[in-house]
Amino acid sequence: MSSSKIVGIDLGTTNSLISIVEGGQPIAIPSAEGDYLFPSVVGFSRSGERLVGSVAKRQAISNPERTIISVKRHMGTDFRFTCDEKSHSPQEISAMILQKVKADAEAYLGFPVEKAVITVPAYFNDSERQATKDAGAIAGLEVVRIINEPTASCLAYGLDKTEKQETVLVWDLGGGTFDVSVLDLGGGVFQVKATAGNNRLGGDDWDQRIMDWLVEEFKKQFQIDLRTDRVAMQRLKEASEQAKIRLSQETSTHIKLPFIAADASGPKHLDVELSRSKFQELTHDLVEKTVEPALTALEDAGMSKSEIDKVLLVGGSTRMPAIQDKVRSLFGIEPSKEIDPDKVVALGAAVQGAVLSGEVKDMVLLDVTSLSLGIETVGGVFTKLIERNTQIPVAKTRVFTTAADGQTVVEVHVLQGERELAAHNKSLGRFELRNIPPAPRGVPQIEVTFDIDVNGIVNVAAKDLATNNKQKIVIQSPTNLTQEEINAMVKDAAIYAEEDAKRRTESQARNKANIELDTAERQLRELGEQMSFEQQKRLRDAIERLRGSLQTYDTEKIKEDTKVLQDAMYAVSTEAYMSVGGEKAADAARKSGYAPTTPTRGAEGGGEAGAEGGAEEPSDQDLFGWFQQ
Ligand code: AMP
Repeated sequence: MSSSKIVGIDLGTTNSLISIVEGGQPIAIPSAEGDYLFPSVVGFSRSGERLVGSVAKRQAISNPERTIISVKRHMGTDFRFTCDEKSHSPQEISAMILQKVKADAEAYLGFPVEKAVITVPAYFNDSERQATKDAGAIAGLEVVRIINEPTASCLAYGLDKTEKQETVLVWDLGGGTFDVSVLDLGGGVFQVKATAGNNRLGGDDWDQRIMDWLVEEFKKQFQIDLRTDRVAMQRLKEASEQAKIRLSQETSTHIKLPFIAADASGPKHLDVELSRSKFQELTHDLVEKTVEPALTALEDAGMSKSEIDKVLLVGGSTRMPAIQDKVRSLFGIEPSKEIDPDKVVALGAAVQGAVLSGEVKDMVLLDVTSLSLGIETVGGVFTKLIERNTQIPVAKTRVFTTAADGQTVVEVHVLQGERELAAHNKSLGRFELRNIPPAPRGVPQIEVTFDIDVNGIVNVAAKDLATNNKQKIVIQSPTNLTQEEINAMVKDAAIYAEEDAKRRTESQARNKANIELDTAERQLRELGEQMSFEQQKRLRDAIERLRGSLQTYDTEKIKEDTKVLQDAMYAVSTEAYMSVGGEKAADAARKSGYAPTTPTRGAEGGGEAGAEGGAEEPSDQDLFGWFQQ
């Protein structure tokens, strides 16, 4: 076997798992302890030794301040975990988990593991994806791709091979989180239509209910409160989880914890029977809590329950019979559970790894962007470069220009969202491109490129075509978008579509009017002497009229008066230049900005057919690039 193999890693909130394709089939790789699940827990012993996985999980309750669980929830944030005066970022903690996973896999496989596909929840934003990639790099792994967990599940089921269009709902109930994704599949395209969930609902809550019940039972019997004893609680937690797992197979189970406490009369032992029906009674409301996110995902995808062709069960907690019953009764179909729900995500990631290494052929995997991306242009307008649901990887280039004469700096404000105005969208970052040679407005050509790589990570670059001066950023958003926020943003865009479009037109009309006023005044100043009295009057009247209409909210009138002013200016400049140098001069006048300018054209790149190619009128936002700094 060679080390060119690419493994798949499910870096989970509770557990992580690693998998590889062997002989055309994905298999899970066990940890050094012999389990397939690596607890995603990192701890530091009192002597400062680093503990990762099951040893760290074991000390979680007795030594909570030196243990970190569920670090995935902090990915992409500035959270720090401090222990022994040493502070660690979420990436570093995740890297410690990945290092253990990597080392154990290497010991098992007998060759170095260097490349990996890592999965993330579909709703993870750019900074969370970037942080995941960084964690891989810190652990010495080349993360060749980040893929969405529901997409990985579909791959494990081989659903990429389905010729017909199918709608799949992935029901993922893990240890600490519940995620529902609705995907459209067909011809190798995986489109996440909607995601919803509850990141505070998972198997741990079911364990907690058993623990609470055990504590009460013990108190009734011995009048001793176990809650005050950390070590006893740790034992109870482990026993509760084991009992829960057994109850997925058995209708009743025995929970026995000898020497759990002691009083003056001697040691006390916990010894109780828990039936599945009692367990289901204790946890009935938790099962009910899964319904709302599932319905929200359906609603956001604009689908009814009957339109779901398949439900895939993912996450260890979907083994509970009560959960499977709920899925059955909700959708009226038998959920697919042929693949171990603990392993399905990692197995799918390994399949993707094998596709990338060329080991598995005849498969394509296409993912899409969840929200549109673009920049802010003059008037606070959001100009999209990449539309929502565009297949990734993708690169788009478009040329912008300056809004004012002599403008030497432009600010590229990168945003994500569906609304027409920048202020209503999510700001991802900004940067400046400086040292643009001073020139009349509309002349500089600044090429803006958005590049989303296969992992969903966004690179934005701006280049001044005259000097080749370039600036760029990799988007690291300061805050994170939850799946609820994404859904809310898409919903808002639909609600406000009409109002936003009106404001955008209004804003563009005003900007155009202001720029034309500016030009007209300059024309009067610089060419005034050559103008006849009538020409001067025509221009002054048009200026006054436009000023007047700018005092109103009548967009149509502003547009109309802008046109009147443009016509007046054009007449003046053409005549003035004709008198000195004929047609050529008139052209020069137009180019110099003293006449209505030839707009800078938008350009599309990145392999997609230019949506704006051809000879149609350019849009206003191409014309008027940015505010002056
Ligand atoms: P995951 O986050 O997908 O690794 O899921 C872990 C959760 O699944 C933990 O809460 C486990 O206790 C739970 N789990 C694993 N196996 C079973 C089972 N057979 N029955 C019920 N819960 C299980």
